[in-house]
Amino acid sequence: MDKQQRKKMQFSAIYLVIALMVAWLFQALVFRPMVIRQSEVPYSQFLAELEAGTIDRVQLTQDRILYTCCSEGEGDDGKAYNVVPVDDPDLIERLAASGVTFAGEISSNSALPMLLGWVIPLLPLALVWYFGLRRMGQGGAGVMSIGKSRAKEIQGERTGIKFADVGGVDEASFELQEIIAFLKDPKRFARLGAKLPKGVLLVGPPGTGKTLLAKATAGEADVPFFSISGSDFVEMFVGVGAARVRDLFEQAKAKAPCIIFIDEIDAIGQSRATVGAIATNDEREQTLNQLLSEMDGFEPNQGVVIMAATNRPEVLDQALLRPGRFDRQVQVGLPTEQGRLEILKIHTQGVTLDSDTDLARIAKVTAGFSGADLANIVNEAALLAVRSEHTGVMMDDFDLAIERVVAGLQRKMRLKPEVRRRVAYHEGGHALVAYLQPDTDPVHKVSIVPTSKGALGYTMQMPDEDTYLLSKRELEERMAVMLGGRAAELLVFEDTSTGAANDLERATEIARRMVTEFGMTEALGPVRYASPAGMGYLGQPGGLRQDISPDTARLIDQETRTIVESAGRSAFQLLKQHRDALDAIADTLQEHEVINAEQIAHIVGSLMPSAA
Ligand code: ADP
Ligand code: MG
Ligand code: ZN
Repeated sequence: MDKQQRKKMQFSAIYLVIALMVAWLFQALVFRPMVIRQSEVPYSQFLAELEAGTIDRVQLTQDRILYTCCSEGEGDDGKAYNVVPVDDPDLIERLAASGVTFAGEISSNSALPMLLGWVIPLLPLALVWYFGLRRMGQGGAGVMSIGKSRAKEIQGERTGIKFADVGGVDEASFELQEIIAFLKDPKRFARLGAKLPKGVLLVGPPGTGKTLLAKATAGEADVPFFSISGSDFVEMFVGVGAARVRDLFEQAKAKAPCIIFIDEIDAIGQSRATVGAIATNDEREQTLNQLLSEMDGFEPNQGVVIMAATNRPEVLDQALLRPGRFDRQVQVGLPTEQGRLEILKIHTQGVTLDSDTDLARIAKVTAGFSGADLANIVNEAALLAVRSEHTGVMMDDFDLAIERVVAGLQRKMRLKPEVRRRVAYHEGGHALVAYLQPDTDPVHKVSIVPTSKGALGYTMQMPDEDTYLLSKRELEERMAVMLGGRAAELLVFEDTSTGAANDLERATEIARRMVTEFGMTEALGPVRYASPAGMGYLGQPGGLRQDISPDTARLIDQETRTIVESAGRSAFQLLKQHRDALDAIADTLQEHEVINAEQIAHIVGSLMPSAA
């Protein structure tokens, strides 16, 4: 215990002593005299005086008999006496017989002393409790500080982050310009009578820079940034989350113009209906209600903008999305090639790059990577460069880093030769089918190095450009590539293995969506059979619509199967036609473990110049 703590202990001990003394004085000077103001007499004396006729007036309360007697003249009420009654059934008769005035009374004047008698001894206890908890609270996350929002700790942080620190979010930052203009000068908007949305919801996959973007918005507008994460609200005590929300808004309003940012809002804002089906969570619901009422409770031009982020907009409670709440949504998607290049540039600013390192090429091969993935790759590459004592981060470092991020860290794992051979043919099958089809993304790299994620090998394709739209034919070719591994196994070993499970899953998924979402079959026509978007788990395509007849459902299954089978057949045919190329690729793979696009082109080209 350090000096300061001891001082605080002493301080509260003194407080306690003072409190006890005050309580005692109160008892001695106020409470007791109030009860004993009238002198107490035995019941027998009361009866004697009653008989003697000296009593003027009697008051009957629940636990006392109060009387005055012996008045000597006008205006003199005489002395008051106080009797503890005994159980005397004849009392009323006696009183009536003696002819005194008597009245019952609700023991109101004894209620106060009773109350005080209880409260005063409790007071020191309350004080002990209070100080005890306060001391516990000094640790930081004490019981007394629970209600205070964690946002307080950053006291409306000035983030200092600018849009220049966020890459590939041109559209989103364009949409946020208005908010920034508003925060810089709320009065101008008020003068013109323009109402800005109170809430802006940033929507996008994890790691795309939503949090970063919110901070940059605050940084650009140069206003305080209050941030709290939805998961912070899920506390141990009911009511705490709601108190936090109240507190957060209070602080923010005092610091307006400013931004309140609620990260991972789905943690509290999940649809009440959805959750109710599984388990009710009062705490979350209370927090959500508090948030809604706070949002409704302030004027649009007060200068507080509430931003929130989620990667699961479909689970949010509709109440959150109503006008006056989070009625503006800003999409923060995965970066395009150009965006990826910008992000790579931002994150390599403090990194020494080798002269051969080509960020544009890295951006090209990392389609589907988020900003966070790219930041991760840059860091991994730098670490690898340090380990291999390169003077700058080289392209090889980046290639390896990408591989690690894609497939998990490489692990040395020795496979039995026959298993390796099978894997080589399987991956070779994928690669060759991809290579032979005209509308398929070119193969970037094929590997039979087992990954820590459990894959025995992988084939990496490199999209020529970011794909937004796929034709039916492209989908069919994709499925053929996915089934190429299994087809190769069938062709060479005349049986199949468990290695194709994931390929089948992906191919089936595509086929199913072709039937139920894209209307790509003759038999079922251009009708949507899938359940409405967003109804499935995490926005993934869910099941079928509820109102589908069993016959249609059977037809959907049949069609899906037909599509997958036909893709499998065309993969098999291609491989059968180019069996020598398949053998060559598999041999090279077994020898070198990894082959790249040029090597594949070379192998296939040398075998049949016409195909290259
Ligand atoms: P989200 O909130 O969307 O999950 P974050 O903003 O938390 O993503 O991003 C995590 C990290 O990834 C950031 O701190 C940043 O280093 C990096 N990052 C993500 N997106 C970008 C981007 N668009 N530009 C620059 N860096 C990014
Ligand atoms: Mg985030
Ligand atoms: Zn496969």
